[in-house]
Amino acid sequence: MKTLNDYNFENKKALIRVDFNVPLNDVFEVTDDTRIQAAKPTIIKILEDGGSCVLMSHLGRPKGVEEKYSLRHIVETVTTILGVKVSFVEDCIGDKVETVISNLKAGEVLLLENLRFYGEEKAGDVTFAEKLSKWGDIYVNDAFGTAHRAHASTAVIAQFFSENKCFGNLLAQEIESIDKVLNNSEKPVTAILGGAKVSSKIGVIENIIDKVDHIIVGGGMTFTFIKALGGKIGNSLVEDDKLNLALAILKLAKEKNTEIHLPVDALIADSFSNEANTKTVNTNEIPDGWMGLDCGPQTSEKFAEVIAKSKTILWNGPLGVFEMENFASGTIELGKAIAEATQNGAFSLVGGGDSVAAVKQFGFGNKVSYVSTGGGAMLEMLEGQTLPGIEAILQ
Ligand code: AMP
Repeated sequence: MKTLNDYNFENKKALIRVDFNVPLNDVFEVTDDTRIQAAKPTIIKILEDGGSCVLMSHLGRPKGVEEKYSLRHIVETVTTILGVKVSFVEDCIGDKVETVISNLKAGEVLLLENLRFYGEEKAGDVTFAEKLSKWGDIYVNDAFGTAHRAHASTAVIAQFFSENKCFGNLLAQEIESIDKVLNNSEKPVTAILGGAKVSSKIGVIENIIDKVDHIIVGGGMTFTFIKALGGKIGNSLVEDDKLNLALAILKLAKEKNTEIHLPVDALIADSFSNEANTKTVNTNEIPDGWMGLDCGPQTSEKFAEVIAKSKTILWNGPLGVFEMENFASGTIELGKAIAEATQNGAFSLVGGGDSVAAVKQFGFGNKVSYVSTGGGAMLEMLEGQTLPGIEAILQ
């Protein structure tokens, strides 16, 4: 795996695909700079070597050129975070860009305009990729968030750099973290899969079932398993067309000697609202008119015991509707258990949009070993898929 350490960037122009797809408010201020912070080590390492950086990214989903998606809005934030002046050019290909880049000196950073102002980016257009490839001596991919897309700047471009391409620090760390969980793990390994639906996690379950020792199931997908086992789930979220699949997963887990842990009690509500009436019942005894929106205290205790014994932990998806304060306890207790296990020496990886949001919201971000920056990309890696952005560097 080629990384930044395989190159000396002195007097070289590094063309870096970063993921600066950050949220902006109404007055175009960056409201969460995690992704910019995450790219900093790569950029700084190249500058310290004596190189220069040409940064390219997408922002949002523009249809053609749309001012509100201009990367101009984030230049100040990137400058502050890097502690280095960042200049900006209002296009990503063309003569103007060529002139600016030919004048770029060692130690300087240039940010190109939103790649998705050109439809060719998402189409993976080879000619567009070739035009972009002119802007650097070495191509560095540090955009894990888009590594599962075969876009011009994330994958197609790599063919124009033969030997001169590598992973940035962030992407290398993401790959290593997942590898540490799936292939080089210290046992016992526990995967916690929560979130809304079984259907969106089935690929992950199938891929990890013989790599992990325990799978903790939580969140909305609990009830598809409970119903499949003959339990009463009231009005809880369920995927009726996945009942047989749930049974097949339980059977497969038995064959593979992987323990699946389901919630034993649930915090149920009489409507999908933070103000709803609530009570705690056994997960398989939910009355009609009520729905399970969080796991109960017995479940949290049981899950914490499994986690305390684990040496490697993967967490993807919340254990309840944590966005509503009254149904956040299961997710918070889980976060606490993972933080404690991590303090005691376990390796913990958290990923997937909602679990990352939960980890940040409840202050566990720096108490776990690694928080992934890619939702979809991480899920696809956990499913065992080859990501185009990673493959392109390895070829
Ligand atoms: P996912 O994107 O599949 O990881 O799902 C995340 C979403 O699942 C969050 O918005 C949670 O509110 C939701 N969720 C978690 N537990 C439940 C539940 N018991 N019933 C309904 N939705 C849930």
